[in-house]
Amino acid sequence: MALTAEAQSDSPTEVIAAGTKAVTILGSTGSIGCSTLDLIGRNRSHFDLVALTAHRNVRTLIEQAREYRPRLAVVADPAGYPELKAGLAGTGIEIAAGAEAVIAAASQPADWVMAAIVGAAGLAPTLAAVKQGACVALANKECLVSAGPLFLKEVNGSGATLLPVDSEHNAIFQVLDANRLESVERIVLTASGGPFRTWNAAEMAVATPAQAVAHPRWDMGAKISVDSATLMNKGLELIEAHYLFPVGEERLDVVIHPESIVHSMVAYIDGSVLAQLGMPDMRTPIAYTLAWPRRMAAPTARLDLAQIGQLTFEAPDLKRFPALTLAREALRTAGGAPTVLNAANEVAVAAFLAGRIGFSEIVTVTAAVLGHTEALGTAPADLAGVYELDRIARIRAEEMVQKSGR
Ligand code: NDP
Repeated sequence: MALTAEAQSDSPTEVIAAGTKAVTILGSTGSIGCSTLDLIGRNRSHFDLVALTAHRNVRTLIEQAREYRPRLAVVADPAGYPELKAGLAGTGIEIAAGAEAVIAAASQPADWVMAAIVGAAGLAPTLAAVKQGACVALANKECLVSAGPLFLKEVNGSGATLLPVDSEHNAIFQVLDANRLESVERIVLTASGGPFRTWNAAEMAVATPAQAVAHPRWDMGAKISVDSATLMNKGLELIEAHYLFPVGEERLDVVIHPESIVHSMVAYIDGSVLAQLGMPDMRTPIAYTLAWPRRMAAPTARLDLAQIGQLTFEAPDLKRFPALTLAREALRTAGGAPTVLNAANEVAVAAFLAGRIGFSEIVTVTAAVLGHTEALGTAPADLAGVYELDRIARIRAEEMVQKSGR
């Protein structure tokens, strides 16, 4: 299993029970970042905040820094520097701005780093956290999709520990017998089906950004909410699972489970199926990674199966949700295909959210970019190659957006 030697070690590191853990949150102002701070706020004496980072939401970053007192607060957009400086004047909290400052924040010595920047923008900071050998709680799935083999090479080389935060991968991590992958028959990722699970193609074609981000079960950032609506999120998660749990792409399945109670399952060769269940609240998987290898209390609603009554499952409709097939094809093609898929999808989702293309065009734009990129099967040799392919794919995606735009 790719989650580093420490994940399989017999000697767990110090956890919630005693002492303090030095913690950095990359993307502290987002949905995952705020949930992480909520948990830390309830267990203040156990955590020492090293750094918090944001992109443009300086007001929230100031509020968080004033409340949680990190040693460092960083805004990625340099335009936010004056406001951050004024807002934290007199607090003694060090401040910085710019993309390089976010990477520097991720490099600050810490025991545990939450990687919760959205998109490929999270790759360099997350790698910086990996390189310092921290325990990295990985929410940013785009890192692995975009640069999987190179990312894992860095993890293995640095001795960092990778803990999956995504509820599905966290569930698998909890029930997988990682030392006996040969006994795993299938890994089944559950998907809520998103807000358009029962919509027909014509209805989806005119879906608005507001409808797409109104997820029926999970309260998440805009990008992942749109990905959930197209099912690209599940496609990205298939790729993420492939890197984290190397059982082979053909042993990875997806099942639609609208209640989002069963967070994923591992089926073994003896017919046993182990699943992790819980109410849909990201504070449970985040708490698992914060306290790992022990557990800590999370203030989430408790699962009452008698009250829920029934859990339902159905096969994904690949005709209405072609993103899932597209992502699986990119995974099979491997090489640079996942990098291109991720970059093109990010551009297309941003264009949809900006009202520039329709909902159905998110996938057609992404597919067109994949179709027009040469030598997809050749993997980037290094991270510079990943960034270059990402850059080219974004330019192509923007061209496609302009062609198919309104
Ligand atoms: P949000 O959009 O809510 O938050 C994103 C965070 O990243 C914000 O702090 C944002 O700052 C920051 N950010 C955005 N762009 C940049 C940039 N260019 N440089 C530096 N920081 C940046 O996203 P989520 O919290 O929903 O998701 C974060 C990641 O976790 C995603 O990769 C997502 O796929 C994954 N994930 C999320 C889940 C969820 O329930 N939300 C579940 C599972 C995985 P600012 O606020 O200033 O814009």
